[in-house]
Amino acid sequence: MSRQEETIRQNLQEVRGRIADAAGRSGRLPEEIVLVAITKYADASAARILFEAGCHDLGESRPQELWRKADALRDLPIRWHLVGHLQTNKLRRTLPLVTLIHSVDSSRLLTEIDRLAAELQRRAPVLIEVKISGDESKHGFTMDEGSTALEQSATLEHVQIRGLMGMTSREGDLGSARREFAALREVRDRLRPSVPDRVSLDELSMGMSEDFEVAIAEGATLVRVGSRLFEGIEG
Ligand SMILES: *Cc1c(COP(=O)(O)O)cnc(C)c1O
Repeated sequence: MSRQEETIRQNLQEVRGRIADAAGRSGRLPEEIVLVAITKYADASAARILFEAGCHDLGESRPQELWRKADALRDLPIRWHLVGHLQTNKLRRTLPLVTLIHSVDSSRLLTEIDRLAAELQRRAPVLIEVKISGDESKHGFTMDEGSTALEQSATLEHVQIRGLMGMTSREGDLGSARREFAALREVRDRLRPSVPDRVSLDELSMGMSEDFEVAIAEGATLVRVGSRLFEGIEG
């Protein structure tokens, strides 16, 4: 086993252990939480090691990089997640490659995904990105816009809304991250009773390398961990 492979396997085991512990402390089962390994800091060979070590959900924040890695690793049945901003002109190439788009941040994008999914005769599972950090530069819906988008989605037949995604501000401490995650869960709980039939808000995508344990404590079902998995790798 190469040194790189050994390090990645150890990192993965450590992160999985911390996910299980965080779940246990909240009375949850580790299986309720999907680890999405964000591979943007790593090359395709490092992503391959993660897959072979049992991590089958991989994510990228930039569509072009997702295309590149999906192509390089097309021999593997990877479940690809797009977690960053998606321009509509990149949609056609992205949609057939991904299991879940976490980052739907406008009504226009939602409508375009539905239209293309209809054309390609496939379903398109997505999450609605909600602004939780008060950081104006971040993409995402405000609470009110999110609720309007959910109402409008009643007429969309191919896009499948599965839940919400949130990003914390990078500078915050764990306490403020936890409050932001709790706020996302509360938004979800508030919207849930009135969502259209085809919409589910079961999934909460929140938590990254620095704060995935508090995200799990607040109900995350998908954690997006990048840098921690590749720590100690020569880049
Ligand atoms: C990069 C990225 C992550 C992973 O961040 P780390 O702090 O490296 O774990 C998660 N989500 C999104 C949207 C990202 O862009």
